[in-house]
Amino acid sequence: MEFLPLSKWIPNLKKPLVIAGPCSAESEEQVLQTALELKQIEDVRIFRAGIWKPRTRPGTFEGMGEKALPWLQLAKKETGLLTSVEVATAHHVELALKYDVDIFWIGARTSANPFAVQEIADSLKGTNVPVMVKNPINADLSLWAGAIERISGAGIKKIAAIHRGFSTYEQTRYRNRPIWRIPIALKDRLKDIPMICDPSHIGGARSLIAEISQKAMDIDMDGLMIETHINPSIAMSDAKQQVTPASLYKILKGLNLRSEYSSNRGFEEEIDRLRSQIDNVDKEILEFLKIRMGIVEKIGEAKSKNDVTPLQINRMNEMMQKRLDIAVKLELPEVYVKELYDIIHAESVKKQTAIMNTFTSSEVKE
Ligand code: PEP
Ligand code: MN
Repeated sequence: MEFLPLSKWIPNLKKPLVIAGPCSAESEEQVLQTALELKQIEDVRIFRAGIWKPRTRPGTFEGMGEKALPWLQLAKKETGLLTSVEVATAHHVELALKYDVDIFWIGARTSANPFAVQEIADSLKGTNVPVMVKNPINADLSLWAGAIERISGAGIKKIAAIHRGFSTYEQTRYRNRPIWRIPIALKDRLKDIPMICDPSHIGGARSLIAEISQKAMDIDMDGLMIETHINPSIAMSDAKQQVTPASLYKILKGLNLRSEYSSNRGFEEEIDRLRSQIDNVDKEILEFLKIRMGIVEKIGEAKSKNDVTPLQINRMNEMMQKRLDIAVKLELPEVYVKELYDIIHAESVKKQTAIMNTFTSSEVKE
């Protein structure tokens, strides 16, 4: 697969590429006003607006449809910004082409569906339109890569991936939890694919956009897609996560961009980039250890109530074997993984013993 860098899509591009515009096109005035204000921000090069909105529940606003496409044409004419919309069917592709939309994106719900992605890919054959592929709503690296492969199979070379986080059943501080190692792994698998971050759909809240954007820059992502509306509080979709053009400007100004030096990146900068990837991966490892410890505590309480000892040798051996089997599959040295798990397991036993002692001593007191 061949992927052209973003600088081949957009002349005189400065990193990061910024894509901004409302979640949904709502009226000609809203589209035009937002685009005119965004035009004042130098880094904004692509205007986005949803026309067909995939909504979780029926009966909510599903986008303005075809009648909004001329509004985008007008915005392009008045501002010179490139335009982009989400396409989910061959019919959307046909209409977006008819109204000269410059760049298409495939939404998270669509990229999870190979039939839909293939239909879009088939309808794109021979067009050469750039396509941005959002990660599927579930954290499945191969499904994301597969969607990109289908688009690439249609002969498209201007393809970018967008990390917009993953849906989880558990409530987290994010609307869609970012799992940074997945876009990192995708970039590793599909060499040279431009990687864009969508902090709006990750955060689900205006207050989180700056910090998520910074994180994306820290791991050397190439662009940001940020939902921007002239009056976010009355937006017809995703009101909580949209920012005004003025706040977008502040967010972008506040970013610490190491990649400013990237045109002449030497050894030191490359090491720096890799170190920040390691920092992120390590933070995730520690967050998972914290989740693991929470589960260990629950098991400890259950064991205590049922008079089972913290250390169960058979279970421990069985568990270790399973971990070692995974290690072999992942080509990690067995001794390394065994030593790691010896430490993790010893701490779990310590924790459960402490829990058991608290339970027993409170019972004794009673
Ligand atoms: C959007 O970009 O407005 C959208 C619907 O995003 P996603 O597909 O990431 O949910
Ligand atoms: Mn949205």
